[in-house]
Amino acid sequence: MTELPARRLLLVHAHPDDESINNGATMARYAAEGAHVTLVTCTLGERGEVIPPELRHLTGAALGMHRRGELAAAVRALGVGDARLLGGAGRYGDSGMMGLPDNEDRGCFWQADVDEAAGHLAEVILEVRPQVLVTYDDNGGYGHPDHIQAHRVAMRAVDLAAERGHRIAKVYWNRVPRSVAEAAFERLQDELPALPFDKSASVADVPGVVGDERITTAVEGTAHAAAKAAAMRAHVTQIDVAEPYFALSNDLAQPLFTTEYYELVRGTAESGESDLFAGLGLEETS
Ligand SMILES: [Zn+2]
Repeated sequence: MTELPARRLLLVHAHPDDESINNGATMARYAAEGAHVTLVTCTLGERGEVIPPELRHLTGAALGMHRRGELAAAVRALGVGDARLLGGAGRYGDSGMMGLPDNEDRGCFWQADVDEAAGHLAEVILEVRPQVLVTYDDNGGYGHPDHIQAHRVAMRAVDLAAERGHRIAKVYWNRVPRSVAEAAFERLQDELPALPFDKSASVADVPGVVGDERITTAVEGTAHAAAKAAAMRAHVTQIDVAEPYFALSNDLAQPLFTTEYYELVRGTAESGESDLFAGLGLEETS
């Protein structure tokens, strides 16, 4: 096997677009610094709502295929070369929103056996041997079944990989500090008239918002804001971008954060750390 860079970061996401919205700046930053960045996406998001009218004919497997292309373009924009689909393309289907009958489809990710799905992820972990893993909190950030399942699978895979010989030093959940979200929405209210969106989302619509005291890590990504916006834009069917704001298919404007925040849940955080690899004694390679 070819030698991987010293610093290795693994991100686990539910659908194509989640990586760019949540961690685009972080992924671009570490890729630019020469770290090995691996993205594992659990489904192709084939139940997602499509924004552009001219693409709304895409549904089901055809939409999944299309979104696979969007994901490839997004990771290219972020400079990330290692993007995988959990268990291979099409292994797990998009579950749709909570409470819909879609959740009961046998092939959907929500119905997946957690140990089996985690086994696929553990194989990736044992191959890449990341020191850092990023995923969602136990509510998936905002309650979407695939995001909750991604959390469960990621946390289980951390344990499985440890049993099989690779312990991940630091596990983080995606977060947004409440004060940052509130300030950003205040600015958004002032700027809304000039934006191509009619209405604003609210703090409650942002996944992973918690009290500031729970934030352990802020990854400053201003230098990679353009890459993040380009990656989000690559998800043409899912995201409308008007920097520094964007909207999903609900057309509600929300802030595009270029500093990305994390809560360390396993391992040891340095006080006020600004680097996911802080305290691990690994050299930057650039
Ligand atoms: Zn998602």
